[in-house]
Parts: sequence; structure tokens; C-alpha cells
Amino acid sequence: MSKSKARGVATRLTQVGRDLGAAGVPVNPPVHRASTFVFPSLAALDEAWKTPFNGRLYGRNGTPTSTAFEAAIAEIEGGYGAVAASSGVAAIMAVFVAFVGQGEHALVPDSVYDIVRRCDTRMLKRMGIELSYYDPLVGKGIAELIRPNTKLIYLESPGSGTFEIQDVPAIVEVAKARGIRTAIDNTWATPLFFRPLELGVDAVVEAATKYIVGHSDAMLGVVATTQDAFMPVRAAVQDMGSCAGTEEVNLGLRGLRTLDARLVRHQASAIEVARWLSGQPVVRKVLYPALPGAPGHELWKRDFSGASGLMSFELPPLAEGALEAMVSGMSHFKLGYSWGGYESLILPVHTENRKVTPWTGGPLLRIHIGLEDVSDLIEDLQAGLGRLTLS
Ligand SMILES: *Cc1c(COP(=O)(O)O)cnc(C)c1O
Repeated sequence: MSKSKARGVATRLTQVGRDLGAAGVPVNPPVHRASTFVFPSLAALDEAWKTPFNGRLYGRNGTPTSTAFEAAIAEIEGGYGAVAASSGVAAIMAVFVAFVGQGEHALVPDSVYDIVRRCDTRMLKRMGIELSYYDPLVGKGIAELIRPNTKLIYLESPGSGTFEIQDVPAIVEVAKARGIRTAIDNTWATPLFFRPLELGVDAVVEAATKYIVGHSDAMLGVVATTQDAFMPVRAAVQDMGSCAGTEEVNLGLRGLRTLDARLVRHQASAIEVARWLSGQPVVRKVLYPALPGAPGHELWKRDFSGASGLMSFELPPLAEGALEAMVSGMSHFKLGYSWGGYESLILPVHTENRKVTPWTGGPLLRIHIGLEDVSDLIEDLQAGLGRLTLS
């Protein structure tokens, strides 16, 4: 696999994970569908065991397609390596299993992607792994929450649904001083707009299901790591058998080619929608860190180079049935989980599972700004807000 020599990320996205050296190669690497690779001799089989993850030993260890995707992600994230997994959640669980063992402890922000809480109570607890939740805005105050058995500080910035921007450098500094690993969910910003490995984070999780695949048609996760964190994460994905499917990996690779172009559009439309929403009398607050004056804007400006298309906004207390009237009547924003595809989505945010920083504001709606004409989206939102009746 040749590495891209380009400096610009849009150029690199068109080149990573491809073999550009030989004559007459197809533009896109072929999709290798394989469980089984065959060998002419026992010696050749033994030889293949020396590099089990080069995509030519057994399908669960990798295929040339997954190897290409992992190389591409490692290069774009600036990591030593990357490990593909069958979903974003599989990637997150691999990080916990890789770094935290029985009788050990991890710190998790209260704004974490909610499914992590479910994995906590259903699986991690049974494995003897203890999670405790912290205020995402704690900054260097994280030091006081560290226990003798704390092995991992997990981060997610901005937080799911509520968009708190964490002081990542401050938390990493505390963790490093104590030899504790850090991992972050970077799905919102993608490696294009936030570069946690450069700030000293050990492992970066992307739910590639979202912007990397970009078309709402595949489940895929990936973890990019430092050299030191790489083998534990690789082993965890292997041991859980949560390897990514080759068709999905190929869709991730395809998505990378247009990631920059798509994010430019998501960002431009999202900032326009955020501005418009913040001028609506019925909207109490817009939670979009790229919006001047929004919570977290200063930290976002310091650490991020862009913003994607996902935000929330807060409404005042509503009359019964008001949310139903607004949300069910939308023309372009469809109700659905996930985000990061080309289409706009809307969803009420559930904050009732928060433990240490309860949400005390009004009802929250999360919207994903897709690639449609922004004028259509604003018109749709305007009509929707007009259907609301306050309590
Ligand atoms: C969707 C999502 C995930 C989980 O990804 P899946 O591929 O759906 O398992 C993790 N983190 C964040 C922030 C997400 O939005």
C-alpha cells in the first residue's frame, strides 16, 4: 500500500488505502470476500502466521479490503494503526475490554453515547469492570475522580445529544501524569475536524456507520491508536470475533473518498440552520458548538477545525401532543436513529439516564442536517415550530 504524499486532507482522502504504483490497477481496490485463504505448503501456511493481520490468513483476521481501510484510517487519523470492527459499539467495547480488566475502573462522561450505559450494566459489570460517570465539563478536576484501580478515562466530545465540549488536553495531561489510558469517541467531528491522537489520546473510536460510510447503509466501527495501544485493541476485536464485514469495509473506504466534500456541505448548512434557529423566539437554546455564543464554543474554537451536521435545540415546556404534531409533520426531516448520511433526520433526545449532571432544561430535539438545499430544511423547521403549542 503506498502512502499518500499530499499535504491536503481532501487529496489524501482520494489516495489512502489504494495501490497507486502498478500499471493497469483499478481505481478502487477490489472487494475481497473471504473466510478462507489457501496455501500451497505447510511452510507457506506457517509463514502466513508470522503476519496474521495482513489480510491473507483467515477472514476474521482481515482481508486485503479491511487492511486497506485500516491503513487509510490510520493515515488520516495520524495513528500508528487502526482496527476495523463490526459497528461503532463493537469498537467502543473493544476499547474497554482492551484497557480495563476485572476489578478495574474506567471513567466515562455523563454525556456519553447512551448505549455505553447499557453495555455497562449488561456486560461490563458482569466482567467485573466498573464504570463511573463524570461531568463532561470537569476538565483537570478529573484528577479527583481517579481511583487506584482506574485504568481508562473515556471521552466523547461533543457529548451525545447535549454537545458538551470537553477539555481534552487538560484531561489527557492528568491521565498521562498517572499512566492512565485515554480513549475518545470522535464520531461527530471525524478525523477531519478533530485530531485527538495529536493531543495525546491513546485510542480514537469512530462510528464509521455515520459520516465515514455516509449513506446510511452499513454498520461499521474503527479504532485508530498509538503504537502502544494497538495490539490490545487488535486482540480485543479478534477475541470478541467482532471483525467488520468486507462489504461494509468497502463502503467505508468508498465513503472516505467524498468525506471532505460532504462535511463541507454538512457544516455550511448546519451553521446556517443553527443561526436561524437561534433567532426563533420559541427556541431557548441551540446546542451546536460552532455557533458563536453556544455552550462550548470557545473550547471548540481552540481545539477543532470544523463542525459536522448534528446539533440539538431546546424548547420550552410543551403542551401534550405538541412534539408529535411538530415532528410527525416534517417533510424533509425524517424520524430515525443514526446520522451522518446524506439525509436530514430529527429525534427527541433522551437525557433521563444521566447520573451526575441531570438535564434540567426543556425538551431537546436533535437534528441532523443532511445534504439537501438548506432553504428547504429551514422552511420545514419553520413550519414544524409553527405546529408547536406551549404548555
Ligand atoms: C451511533 C454512534 C455510536 C455507535 O455506532 P454504531 O455503528 O451505531 O454501533 C457510537 N458513538 C456515537 C457518538 C454514535 O453516534
